[in-house]
Parts: sequence; C-alpha cells; structure tokens
Amino acid sequence: MALLQISEPGQSPEPHANQKKRAVGIDLGTTNSLVASVHDDRIEVLLDAQGRMLLPSVVQYSSDGVSIGHAAKSSAVNDPLNTIISVKRLMGRSYQDVVGGEELSANLPANKQDENFSYDFFERNDGVVAINTAQGPKTSVEVSADILSVLAERGRQALGGELEGVVITVPAYFDDAQRQATKDAARLAGLPVLRLLNEPTAAAVAYGLDQQNAGTIAVYDLGGGTFDVSLLRLSKGVFEVLATGGDSALGGDDFDRAIMLWLCEQLNIRHIPTPTVERHLLTLACELKESLSQNESHTVSYNDVSITLNREQLNGLIDPLIQQTTRACKRVIRDGGIDISDIDHVVMVGGSTRSLRVREKVSLFFDQEPLDNIDPDKVVAIGAAIQADVLVGNKPDSDMLLLDVLPLSLGLETMGGLVEKVINRNTTIPVVKAQEFTTFKDGQTAMSIHVVQGERELIADCRSLARFELQGIPPMVAGAAHIKVTFQVDADGLLNVSAMEKSTGVQASIVVKPSYGLDDDSITQMITDSFEHAQDDIVMRALREQQVEADRMIESLESALADNGRELLSNDEYQLLSNEISQLALLRDQGNAQDIKQLIEKISVDSEAFAAKRMDVSIKQALAGQSLDDISAE
Ligand code: ADP
Ligand code: MG
Repeated sequence: MALLQISEPGQSPEPHANQKKRAVGIDLGTTNSLVASVHDDRIEVLLDAQGRMLLPSVVQYSSDGVSIGHAAKSSAVNDPLNTIISVKRLMGRSYQDVVGGEELSANLPANKQDENFSYDFFERNDGVVAINTAQGPKTSVEVSADILSVLAERGRQALGGELEGVVITVPAYFDDAQRQATKDAARLAGLPVLRLLNEPTAAAVAYGLDQQNAGTIAVYDLGGGTFDVSLLRLSKGVFEVLATGGDSALGGDDFDRAIMLWLCEQLNIRHIPTPTVERHLLTLACELKESLSQNESHTVSYNDVSITLNREQLNGLIDPLIQQTTRACKRVIRDGGIDISDIDHVVMVGGSTRSLRVREKVSLFFDQEPLDNIDPDKVVAIGAAIQADVLVGNKPDSDMLLLDVLPLSLGLETMGGLVEKVINRNTTIPVVKAQEFTTFKDGQTAMSIHVVQGERELIADCRSLARFELQGIPPMVAGAAHIKVTFQVDADGLLNVSAMEKSTGVQASIVVKPSYGLDDDSITQMITDSFEHAQDDIVMRALREQQVEADRMIESLESALADNGRELLSNDEYQLLSNEISQLALLRDQGNAQDIKQLIEKISVDSEAFAAKRMDVSIKQALAGQSLDDISAE
C-alpha cells in the first residue's frame, strides 16, 4: 500500500507554491562588478570559488583563450592590446564617438583618451566600434556580456538553477544608447533583464529598506570611472528622486593618473614610452593610493628605484579632484531646491570613498558623518538585488515606487526671444504650474505660445517643443490682458500646456512629450551649456530686456508724436524727442543694456511734460459732453 505524504509542520504542502523565484542584482561597474541576491529575506553578495566578491571588469582575449576578472586584470600590464579594461566607457558609443569626431572630447577629457582608447579599434559596417583582439573582433557589448556571464553563473550556482530575473545597475548619466547597449549585453549573455536601475538609486534602496529610514538622502558615489551624486527623499518605502548630477568622467582612475604623473616626475620620465609602461605605472599609482587608505605612507619600486608617498602628499594630488565632486554636490543641492542642512543622511558608494581624504572632505562639505555601515563596494549590488526580488514577484505586498524628475526646465518664449521658465528642471513629476502673461501690443487679439525646453535664457539656445495660438483675446491696451498659461506634466513625462484669457475664458492647449527624441547625453550637454554660459546669458538677457523696452518706447513715442506732437510741443521740444528716438533706435542695435537703459530713462524724463499734456487732452476729450454729475457718480 502506498503511503500518503504529509508535509512537515510549517512547510507548504505544495512543494512549489511558496518557492521564491531566482533573482539577482548585478552592479556592472567600470572597474569592478559584483552580484547579489535576496535569500530567505537575507541579502547576500555572491562570492566566487576563491571567496572573492569583486570581479574586475576586465577581459583578456589572448591567443590562449578568454580570461575574465582577476586573471585578466593581472595580464593587463603584459598584454594591453588584448586586455579590455573600463569597457563601460565604450558602451553605446559609435566608432566616430570613440576614435574621431568631437563627441569624444565632449564625453571624455583628453587625458582619458590614451588610457581607455589605446586598443586596435575598427569600425564595423553598422558604425559600431569594435576592437581587434587575438580572439577576433570584440564589441563593448560582447565584452560586457562576457563579464555578465561570469556573474550570472555565480547566481545560478548559489540559487540552484536558471535565473528568472536580473536587475543591472547603470550610472545616472547613461544615455539611451548606453542603456540599450547594457540591455543588449545582458541579452547576449542570456539573462532575463527586469530593468536597469540607476546606481545611486540602488544604493538608496539598500539603505532605505534595510533601516526603514525616512528623510532626505544624498548619495555620493565615487567609483573608478564615474562620479554620481543624487538627492533622494524617502518615506514609508517610497523613494523620490529630488535631483541628480555628477561627472561621468571622474573617478578613482583620475586619482591614479594624478599619482602616476607625480611618479613620472620622481622618476624623471618625460614621455611614457609604451602602453605597457603606462599600465605598469598606473598599477603602482593605484597601489600607493589604496594602501594610503590604511597606512600613513607607502613605498613602491620601479626599475629598482624606491619611491615613497605619504598621506599629505597624496592629499595635495587628489584634493583638486575631490573638490570637483563637492562642486557637483553643491549644484545638485541647488537643483533639488533644498538646503544642505535638510540632508539627513549622506550615503557613501564606490571604492574611492574608502579614501580617507574623500570621507574627510565629504563630511566637511555636508557637515555630517557619512553613512557607511553597508560596504561601499556592495551597496549598489544589494539595492539591485532588493529591487530584483521585488520586480520578479517575490514581494507581492511591496509598494516600493521610484518617482521621476524633469531633466530640463520647461518654459515659454517671451518678447525679445527670451525664455521664461515655468517649471524648473529637477522638479518632481507629476506637477502643475501656472503663470500669467500679457499682451505686448494695443488691441492684440491673438497670442502665439511657443513652448521650449532647456536651461538657457535665449530661445535660440533652447529646444523648441511646440507652438500654438490663443485666439479671441478681446482687444485691450497692451499689458491689460491676463493670459494664464498652465503647464502640466503627468507621471509619464507627458506635458500639457494650456492658455486661457481670464476675462472671457477663451482657451487653447497642446500636448507634447518633452523628452521625445532627446537622449540623456543631449540633456546633460544642455545643462552643462547653461552653466558654462550662465554669465553670457545674464548679459544677453539684460540686453534683450532693454531692447524690448526700447522698442516699446520708440513705438509709443513715435505714435504719440505723430498723433499730436506738432500741436502740443514747441519745435525744439519736438526735435529733441524725435532725435532721441533715432538715437535710441541706433543704440538698441549697437549699445549695451546699461546705455540703452540710461537713454530710456532720459527720454522718459524728457517726455514727461509731453505725456502730461497728452493726458490732459485725452481727459478733456473723454469728458467732452459729459456733465459733472456723471463723473462724480463714478
Ligand atoms: P566602479 O563603480 O567604477 O566599478 P568601484 O566602485 O569598484 O568602481 O571603485 C573602484 C575604485 O575604487 C578604483 O579606482 C579603486 O582604486 C578605488 N579603491 C578601491 N579600494 C580603495 C581604497 N582602499 N582606497 C582608495 N581607493 C580605493
Ligand atoms: Mg560603482
């Protein structure tokens, strides 16, 4: 007789009902990568057979075969052409981006070029950049897929089967092409990607859910190749991204480079002869840097010459780089519309935050001790694992939600080709904002509404999104109409602009998708431009404003003179004003804001008497035929 099966107490009678799906989070770093997963409600970083957590993001394609990680990293010095490091920098980049063209210099400072671009590049038929190696041509997607495969295998080993969901993190600055390339790499490695997650957000996820914190958090992520800073507000498991910023070409590699240049000075090396020598020197520089996070000084030797670096010397070399990061922090705090004192926690992410000087400067800047109870190397992978666990469906009750922000300001064109911002960039969406505008000319019955996106002050420097007209404004004197323009952005980033004349209620509206056709890179570029041109823009804006004023004055004074100037003014008075108009017209086109303003002020003084006389005339006209009783009855 067959025995009936009875389940153990506390265990589900159905073997598969409660089984968790196999999900992992992968931090695919420029320098190092790692993988983590949630296991029995515990988060684990998965180790390799040797017990190591970090997998160097390095792949060597030599004639002997392919090696990935530690072995590849140590062969980088001897086989630089076949050993691909920092491949993340090449993700989503075309041959033109990498080898020629201006985009490279826009994306990477000159000192990054030889470091990352010393391979034997060629252009594939489809424009994709590939590298010739002893194993044949390799693209960045293929190299990344090789790295991902090793991590995925760790996941399969640890979780006992094929993975069902993977979350991969990317820097906040990655554009669409770079994100797509990352997804392609995952597909090539056969991984089911649930979503890509921004690295700083992942770090906040790790801290927020671990500790049930509520408040405002700054995430300072200084890795090997990128710096990201994000401001997040979190409450009851809901994260809101207030603002993000940083520098996609700044990291610990730059520390190494600065130290290497110092080494070259000590060694009297004027020109680094080969990539091999350069890699060797960079490796020594990195050794010095990392050792000084524990020790007061450290010595390396190169060709039998011993060189010692101490902390104070190191600080001198890296302080300018750290300062660049705190400057970016300052901008993000401004963008987030908060005060430094509003920040409750500072989260440290990335290997470079192990540097004592970085911690010191960061805590000085934020005026508080940064949080580092989660290993800065693990924190991103942990957040990704938590998110993967939720997204794969292991946490059906979780209400974890990530809100978005507007990447660029939205505004309207006003007179003089100026931009009036209605919603500032980094505003959390959904959002509704309204502002009132008015007519420029007497009797104006229509208004052309031009919706633009960007940070600059002039229309020409912003991106045009849409135009529409508001018709049927009742004729009024210039400046009397009240047109209420409302900008509404929904949770998907869809913008609805409507304009309404308040006295009659006539209205018109349009729907636009602000981010359409604009990748993260152009957004970054537009923001960078706005910082670079901030000073020019202020000058330009002031000039345009005065030009608009000048036009207004010229137009009204000309028509007044034509109307009754001859009757009300002496010949001299008339001449003076019409000369001044000509002067103003000339200065409007050739002068600066200050001069135009002064002349406008002078003309308004000189024309005061004329205006008063005209006022008298028009009052007399208005009163003609009315009795005194009618007037006092008003
Ligand atoms: P990425 O996110 O770019 O992959 P990581 O977060 O792994 O980078 O950080 C790698 C960087 O951290 C490297 O530049 C490395 O030299 C640096 N780093 C690692 N350990 C230390 C340390 N103890 N002191 C200073 N820098 C360190
Ligand atoms: Mg990182």
